[in-house]
Amino acid sequence: MEPTAGLMALDVALEKMLSRLSPLTESETLPLLHCFGRVLARDITSPLDVPGFDNSAMDGYAVRLADLALEKPLPVAGKAFAGQPFRGEWPAGSVIRIMTGAPVPAGCEAVVMQEDAEVTEAGVRFSEAVRAGQNIRLRGEDIAKNAVVLKAGQKMSVAQVPILASLGIATVEVVRKIRVAVFSTGDELRLPGEPLGEGEIYDTNRLAVHLMLEQLGCEVINLGIIRDDPAALREAFIEADRQADVVISSGGVSVGEADYTKTLLEELGEIGFWKLAIKPGKPFAFGRLPHSWFCGLPGNPVSAALTFYQLVQPLLLTLSGAEPVAPRRLKVRAGGRFKKSPGRLDFQRGVLRTGEDGQPEVVTTGHQGSHIFSSFSQGNCFVVLERERGNVEPGEWVDVELFNHLFGG
Ligand code: AMP
Ligand code: MG
Repeated sequence: MEPTAGLMALDVALEKMLSRLSPLTESETLPLLHCFGRVLARDITSPLDVPGFDNSAMDGYAVRLADLALEKPLPVAGKAFAGQPFRGEWPAGSVIRIMTGAPVPAGCEAVVMQEDAEVTEAGVRFSEAVRAGQNIRLRGEDIAKNAVVLKAGQKMSVAQVPILASLGIATVEVVRKIRVAVFSTGDELRLPGEPLGEGEIYDTNRLAVHLMLEQLGCEVINLGIIRDDPAALREAFIEADRQADVVISSGGVSVGEADYTKTLLEELGEIGFWKLAIKPGKPFAFGRLPHSWFCGLPGNPVSAALTFYQLVQPLLLTLSGAEPVAPRRLKVRAGGRFKKSPGRLDFQRGVLRTGEDGQPEVVTTGHQGSHIFSSFSQGNCFVVLERERGNVEPGEWVDVELFNHLFGG
């Protein structure tokens, strides 16, 4: 068992962090096409009944039950199409030809689908018993006028935006974008495209964070690479805090000699917590700056992406006024061995697949080092292994959490 004194459990850290946040209050009004991923600033009440009128669910015939009781072929007295209602007199002892979506004529008690109708010289006959109300979509049965259709805090996707269109709503008030400043720290970091000197590496974290922020609907202020120099870092912290609601740095949060982040956070603001009982991602820092919230991601790329995913995502959702949804976890059988030492909550990368017995199983992506970023591209889920757990043998039950859209899920 590795020493875990002083490490905070992930759920405790999340609770501590989220309970301090209050959602942004400013909003903007956008056309529906630009609302995907944005959060509603106010409840939406329906200005209409949907459907707006009783209408046919089928192509067929509009009937009155008393006419059917005559048990003889009934002549067709008129037609109703979507957008072109039947407006004439509907004589007793007849039916109206009707198409899907057409308003049902006054007095109509059911629609018989055309597959159950036989058209003869003498009129239309029906082969099946007819039930009152069948194949009629009732006014307001989807959404009633003045009902609350979507609540403030709803994050919108294709499951929501089209509902607004169906109500005739063209623009909607959403919470303004969260402004997030991001920078990487490290004397060893270079930009892709530049040559590498001895001991240098390319900056991958800032790109990962920038992409994730954009996908989450944030406005990104990218401040580049900051050297491991207390004065330069101090300036970056102050500049970021001046511009943003949230400041995200990567690197410099371990206990190395050039790790100044923690000291600066203490000087300029306040540390909420630092060091989590998770693997990878132990050196994650959260705190407060004068005008913004601060998240210090670990330097190792897997740890940076993972702590962003597990901690910064819920932070951003909460700031936008949306309810952070607990990650959906499933229990599946291990299709192979997972190496683990007790002590921290592990987020290994795995492949969820269908086993030979047709049941789901999960296997490891291989090397789980916090510098092996390809484990994200090879995997499709996190395998979440409890703190106290040791090695996992094939056939044991484990929790998996499927990657969301940030990692291609
Ligand atoms: P640090 O937390 O600054 O001590 O960094 C831990 C490890 O992550 C070191 O191997 C760094 O070189 C590496 N690292 C730090 N920042 C980045 C970055 N932006 N991109 C890729 N690797 C990084
Ligand atoms: Mg560093």
